[in-house]
Amino acid sequence: MSVDPAILEEIYDNAIYIVKDLNPIDKGDRYVIDCPECGKREAWIYKQGAMGRIFCNRKDKCTLAQSNGLSLWDYVQRKEGLDQQETLERLAFYTRVYLPSLSDDQIQAMRENRNKKDLLEESHRYFRESLFTEDGAKTLEYLKGRGYTEKDIKTMELGHYPGYANTLKHLVSMGFQVNPIPEVFEYAKRRGEYKVVFPYGDLSGNIKAF
Ligand SMILES: [Zn+2]
Repeated sequence: MSVDPAILEEIYDNAIYIVKDLNPIDKGDRYVIDCPECGKREAWIYKQGAMGRIFCNRKDKCTLAQSNGLSLWDYVQRKEGLDQQETLERLAFYTRVYLPSLSDDQIQAMRENRNKKDLLEESHRYFRESLFTEDGAKTLEYLKGRGYTEKDIKTMELGHYPGYANTLKHLVSMGFQVNPIPEVFEYAKRRGEYKVVFPYGDLSGNIKAF
């Protein structure tokens, strides 16, 4: 995604508002903050010329210190689990920077992303819940037979796949658009008999597939 450099510069000039949660304190040329990686108060952002990066001083003890810092963009995106467009909007919101309005296509793309994200999350919730219903009893028994405790099952967010038709029916009952069918369910359609479900996520913890 390309962002107007002037807008980014304005955002990063007001970076203190992005790191409010890291308790910034003015120390002359920089703000000292809690390190988002190691948690120690040895991180900082520069007031000027920082290009929107967080640095940490704990060379041997913090992965953030071993790299060229962490961008404020990535910090907000990961922490809040956002896509690129949402990250820009959040940064602009924090720093009160005005963003030129979005085109209809951009708005439509954002809506579709949001719908897909909600749909995956609702499916995941439904699969996990189904594991503890009559339909999921055999799957639960199978998992327990493999040595998984109920705690493991919850931690690993395992679920039971109640079949393609039931899944779509559930989603429709929850008000989701399933026409056209989201591509992730094209795979689910061909799953066959294997009923155990677990989510594949990205780095932000968003579900990408099952
Ligand atoms: Zn650190």
